[in-house]
Formats: sequence, structure tokens, C-alpha cells
Amino acid sequence: MTKRLYYDSPELQEFESVVEGVLAPSAEQPRPGVILRETAFYPTSGGQVHDTGWLTLDSSDRVRVTEVAEQEDGRIVHYLEAPVRAVGGAVVRGVIDFDRRRDHMQQHSGQHVLSAAFVELYQMPTVSFHMGEDYCSIDLATPSVSSGQIAGAEKRANQIVFENRAVRIRYVSRAEAEKLGLRKLPPAGHDELRLVEVTDFDLSACGGTHVSASGQIGSIFLRKSERVRQGTRVEFVCGDRAVRMARRDYSALSEAAALFSTQLWDVPDQIRKNVEESKLLRKQKDDALDQLAELMALAALHDQPETNARKIIMRVFSDRDIGFAKLFAQKVTRAATPVIALVASTVDPPGLVFAQTPAQASGGASDSTADMGALLKQVLSSVGGRGGGSRDFAQGGVPAGCTVRVEQLLREAAGTIGA
Ligand SMILES: [Zn+2]
Repeated sequence: MTKRLYYDSPELQEFESVVEGVLAPSAEQPRPGVILRETAFYPTSGGQVHDTGWLTLDSSDRVRVTEVAEQEDGRIVHYLEAPVRAVGGAVVRGVIDFDRRRDHMQQHSGQHVLSAAFVELYQMPTVSFHMGEDYCSIDLATPSVSSGQIAGAEKRANQIVFENRAVRIRYVSRAEAEKLGLRKLPPAGHDELRLVEVTDFDLSACGGTHVSASGQIGSIFLRKSERVRQGTRVEFVCGDRAVRMARRDYSALSEAAALFSTQLWDVPDQIRKNVEESKLLRKQKDDALDQLAELMALAALHDQPETNARKIIMRVFSDRDIGFAKLFAQKVTRAATPVIALVASTVDPPGLVFAQTPAQASGGASDSTADMGALLKQVLSSVGGRGGGSRDFAQGGVPAGCTVRVEQLLREAAGTIGA
């Protein structure tokens, strides 16, 4: 088992050790691994992610440690970016990327304080902790957390930060631990437990690296909460992450405020107003288009003479979309006289709409109707287009390269139905 220097010296940034083993790269693990007698590198465990840093072996160049993992036998493997020439017993010097480690300490200690705050205020125990690259989260054993509880826990946790309470590590036997009333007792299996104590606030068994006083957490900032299988997930960030995230939020909000020429806190109101305005404008536009289609339909019906007790209306729209073409087709086929509308739009995406006045509406003059769906399929097949519909209404798309032939397609359709 590798001796873990971070247990008692979480501030240790550099150390010396000797190589105990070297794992050659394999298909499964393409990076070489080094096992040391002791290490200050933290391996991914207990929700906290691993350290990175550098190892210098004997007189060779220093190599980057990209991942640190714990084996089942308790040995810690340092995975290296590049192969090294090392043998057992070689002296090695390790250096931790301490900016990364400090961040992890802030997040992990912040998590203990936050979890304790949720227990103290709302009796909501934490069932799991996740540390990500951007944010961290805890899962609380509760079906929901209100925004008031989020704010309450955040306030209480930051109060503990501001009081700069000492954070101490100590070791006790399992029997002693059971008497101490820990927030979380690990499953049986360890005789000696490592306890992390935030003075007069939280006592937990934990193998992670922690700050030495709560003030070093900097700040605890709660983000969103969401329902998950085992309860409610609360996202949070501590220390420098909280500052970075607040800076990012501020930039985004400032940009939005500048776009609206307003103050930051007025942005939600402005968005609400804009959404309402857009809804109204969309409605007005739809009404106007409907009226326009109606008038164009009336004009087309007026201009088109009747032949064989029906009117065939052909129209290609080059400045209106397929939605308008559809609307126009619906309007003309609503007239008293049986109408067949062969309509197209060349506006992207180009398409065809074939419609006719339904037979029953035109007094059973079924001899004046055709199958629009079949007609559309037949016409589109010549250009590789796709579409379909019912006997009275069909719609389809024309391949982009064929828009010049749209008028010809309508003539073909008219020819087929004997117009
Ligand atoms: Zn912990």
C-alpha cells in the first residue's frame, strides 16, 4: 500500500520518494504508470478528482503526471504522459500542480460545509458528491429543494466560511467514531477512520484533501437544482470557481443588458416584454398573410374562367414560402365552384401544393376531381422530389436544383388532369 503523504500534509507540494514499480503501457492502458513508496499525489476517490503534476526520475527530464488512480490493493499509480526509463529503487521527485489541488480542496471542504448546512437547517442528508471540471454537485435525499432552502443553505454555509473556523484532521477507531455522531459514517471495513472536522459544525469520515480553515474555501455559490433518481441534485461552486462563474454570468448578463440598453436587473423584464411583443407581431403577421392569401385567392378565382364546370388555378410564388402557397391553395379551393389549385413556391425550401375542392362540398361533382396525392407523386418522381397527401390535398418538396422547372411541373400536372 502506498503511503499517502496528503493524509497528514495536504499542503505538501513537493516530495521525494523511490520507485517501487513501473507498469509498461498496454492496449488497455496506453500510458506508462509508476508506483512510488509514498506520494503526495491524490488519486481519484471519494468524489474528489485526482491531482496532476510532474515526476523527475534520477537525472532524466521531468515527465507530466496526467492521471492518478488507486488500485484495489491500495497502491497508487501515477500515469505519465511519456515513457520513462526507471527501475525499482530509483529516486524520484514529485511536484503537484497546486493550483489544481487548491481548487479541489476548496470544492471538497466547501462540500462538507454545504452538506452539513443542509442537514442542520432542513435535515436533508447528502447521499453522493461529484466534482466536475466546471462545477460540483451533491445529491440530497429529498424529493425537492425550494429556492428558499437553496438560498438558506448557501447563506448558512458562507457564514461558516466567513467565521474562518479551523478544519482539523484526526484519526479514531471505528468504535470511537460511532460514539461521535458523524454526519456520515463509512461502511464497515476500516478499523481506523480519518475524520475531517469543521470546528463545532461538521464531523465526517473522509480521505480527501481539505483546507486548514474554512475561510480558505473563499465562498460557496449554489447554482441550479434538479430532480434525480436518488433525490435532488444541487450544483455548486466554491472559491476561485465561484468568482470565475460569477464573472462569466456577469459578462453574459452585461451583454444582454447592452443589447436591450437597460440595467442588468431589468433584463428579465425586457425579455418578457420582447417575448410578448414577438407573439403579438407573429399573430399580426399571420393575420395579414391570411388576409393577403384571401384577397389573392379572390382575384385568382375572378381572373380564371371556368372550363368543364371547374377552374384550374396555377400559381408559382417566387417571393412567398411554401406555407403561404398552402394557405393560398386552401383559400381558392374553398370557393363555391370546384377548383383545382396547382401551386408552388421557389423560396427555400421549394415545394409544391396540389389541392382541390372536396367532392362533397362541390355538390358531388366527382367527375371534375382528381387524386391530388397520386398526381403530386407522379409529377415529383420526374425530378426526384418527395411528397404525398390525400385525394384532396397534397404537399411535397422539390430538390433545390429543380426550382427552374417548377412552372413546367405544374403544366405537366395540369396536362395529366386534362386541363
Ligand atoms: Zn469528503
